[in-house]
This record gives sequence, structure tokens and C-alpha cells, in this order.
Amino acid sequence: MSHSIDATHNPNLRSWVESANQQNIDFPIQNLPFGVFRTQGSAETTRIGVAIGDKILDLSRCYHAQLLQELPEQLQAACTAPNLNLLMGMETQARLALRHRLSELLRYEQQPSSEREILISMSDAELLLPANIGDYTDFYASIFHATNVGKLFRPDNPLLPNYKYVPIAYHGRASSIVPSGTSIKRPSGQIKKPENSAPSFSPSQMLDYELEVGFFVGAGNQLGQPIYVDKAEEHIFGLCLVNDWSARDIQAWEYQPLGPFLSKSFATTISPWILTLEALAPFRCPAFRRHQDDPQPLPYLCSSLDTNLGGIDITLEVWIRSPQMQEQDMQPLRLSRGSFQSMYWTLAQMLTHHSSNGCNLRSGDLLASGTVSGAEEGSQGCLLEMTQRGSQPIELPTGEARKFLSDGDEVILRGYCEKAGYNRVGFGECRGVILAA
Ligand code: MN
Repeated sequence: MSHSIDATHNPNLRSWVESANQQNIDFPIQNLPFGVFRTQGSAETTRIGVAIGDKILDLSRCYHAQLLQELPEQLQAACTAPNLNLLMGMETQARLALRHRLSELLRYEQQPSSEREILISMSDAELLLPANIGDYTDFYASIFHATNVGKLFRPDNPLLPNYKYVPIAYHGRASSIVPSGTSIKRPSGQIKKPENSAPSFSPSQMLDYELEVGFFVGAGNQLGQPIYVDKAEEHIFGLCLVNDWSARDIQAWEYQPLGPFLSKSFATTISPWILTLEALAPFRCPAFRRHQDDPQPLPYLCSSLDTNLGGIDITLEVWIRSPQMQEQDMQPLRLSRGSFQSMYWTLAQMLTHHSSNGCNLRSGDLLASGTVSGAEEGSQGCLLEMTQRGSQPIELPTGEARKFLSDGDEVILRGYCEKAGYNRVGFGECRGVILAA
């Protein structure tokens, strides 16, 4: 059961990887997130790794050093694959067995003689996409985001009548998902300015980020066989950070009647490390408490387990650094901070809804939450909301103003979970720099 707390969450565990024992880091021994890497600058076949402190545990090398021997053969084979799809497709039990083995392997008392062969410094590694992502779907699960954005376009009717019934989503583009650190070229597209009667084709002047949480499909479902809400989490492998880059001027002109298209599909950045649901178990919390006047979700989206534990308390932050800030050696500026607890729909509800018509989800598919915005000031997950569509620019420490992103701006997403009695676990970073069109 992915909600269970066990020996791998014990806050007193220490690792023989010294850097993993520091306070307030993202990758202590209690986390054990999965990613895909190769030695920087090499043409090596990619390998699966687990982040531990400032190092990566190389699962292929662990296998060859016979450190995974006790595990089922199929699971060992999945650990030596060039991406995470096979491992994602395995049952929760298998993943749990691997988590326990990795925790044991990295514990202080267990330092292996092969340490040098099975570890690589994160700074020597190139982190790649963790899976072959077949399909990508982006939801719209924050009622605060939906309301704030709705207000900008329809002041008297911000929230459309389906919102509290349907976990709204659009089908995104998997081919343009890139790993953290990839530069993002400013897109061009059709833009119609209010003062013009017709659009022109030009570079976007309203380029934005969207702070989101992504989740990878674990075991998939057969075409025609919906996943029930009680079982939904058994089909989720783990979570990452997502930046759904958005060109607001292109979006405003193209979105009716079928939703976003080229305003989103030019690039989506994801963080390289996937935190499993097991790692997140201590940070589960009740699902968002609906207002008493709100409708209950339809029965196929309701379960008491999900109501009680369907939420996850993840703190999420957006940081920015302009080229001028970088020249003046300034640290990035935090633009916002919010919590994933504020989402109207749970991961289980999104996944259940997605498969409810019989649509088959496949291991490695990526679902994203939509922009995470909270009710509080300073918890808005995109510039469109923060600057009120550019009418209230943000001031940077250099005195520069930002309505939307400028060329050379770097956007950094961060996410982490903290709770008394447990070690913090983090997602690392999701970065991208804007290049000129
Ligand atoms: Mn989005």
C-alpha cells in the first residue's frame, strides 16, 4: 500500500553517502527518487539512477555488482533498462521491494566495496527524460487558478459551470517535453492585438511559465477498461515538477473553441527526478475540502480513502533570474510559493476521469496537474495571474520590470515536502532559460 509508513521512512536512517546526511537537502536516504542519466559529454547508453545526496546510484552497475540479486529477475531486468518505462509498468509490490533493497544498500552499516563503481557525482552526469513519454495530458485542477484566469477574461462569470464536476484537461504534446536545463526558444505564432482587426505572425510578447506537478502512469489499463478511483493510485508511479511554458498572446487568439494548441506545444520542461508515491507517503493529507455549497463529485470520482488521504502537502516555488541579475551576481528572486494541497481535484480523480471512457493509459504517460495557485497572496503559479495579464508588472532587484518573460530570463521551479518527525524530501529543480525567437 503506497500510503504506508515503513522502515524506509525512519528519520534516523543514515547513509554511507556522506552528502545524503546533511539537514534540509532534497535527496536524503528516505527519498530515493528515480531518474535517467549518462556521463556528461559521453554517448553512453542511458542508465537508470537513484538520487542520493549529491550523487547518483547507478542501478545498472548495482546489478552487475550483484547487489540486486535477491530481487525477482523481471525487476532486475527493469533496473538495467535505458529508461524507466519497464519499471513504471511493474506492480506496486515490485516497486516496494526495490525501494526496500535500495534503502538497505545505502544504509550506513552497508557500505559496499564496490562503492566507486556504483556511484557517480551528479555534477558529472547529464540528466535526461526519465521515460519514453507516449502521451501527455495537462489538467486544470486548481480552482484558484481557474477562477483568477477566468476573471481576466470574464469578470462577471469567472468559473464555467462544468468546473466543479469535470476535471478539465487538454491533450498536450509529448514530443516537445524536455528535461530541466534545456533552453526554450521563444515561439512565434498568430497574435491578434486588440487594436488590430486581423492577426499577424510574430514572436510572442507574452511568454509565461506555469508551475505544475506532473505524475507518471505506472501500470496501464486495457482499452475499454476504466480504472476505478479506489485503484487509481496503484496506476501512478511517481511525481515530478512541470513547467508548462505558455504564450498567452497566441493562446488568447487560438483557444476558442477547442482549447490551447500551439501556445503550449512548443515546449514543456520536467524535473529529472521522479519521487515515488511511497517516498511521499508521510506527506499525504486530506483532499481539498470543498465549500459546503459545492456539489459532491459524481460517484465514479469519489472514494473515502481519496477524500481522507488523496492530497499531498508539497511546497512549490517559482524563482527567476534575469541576465542583469546574473551579471551582477545576484541570486534568483522567489516569485511565488504555494502548496499542492490547494488543488480542487486529486491525482486519483484526474487519472480516474482520464480512463473513465475506456481510454487506455500506458506506462510512462505523463499527466500534469495544471497551474498550482492557492488562495493566498503570493501563491499564484504563473505571471498571467501575478501581473494581472501584465497590468501590474513585477519589479526585480535590479529595478527591471517584468510583465512576462524576457529573453535570457531563467525560470526555476522547486518543490519539497516537510513534516515534523520526518526527513524532508525534495524534487530538485526544474530550470529553463528563454532564448530569442
Ligand atoms: Mn498548464
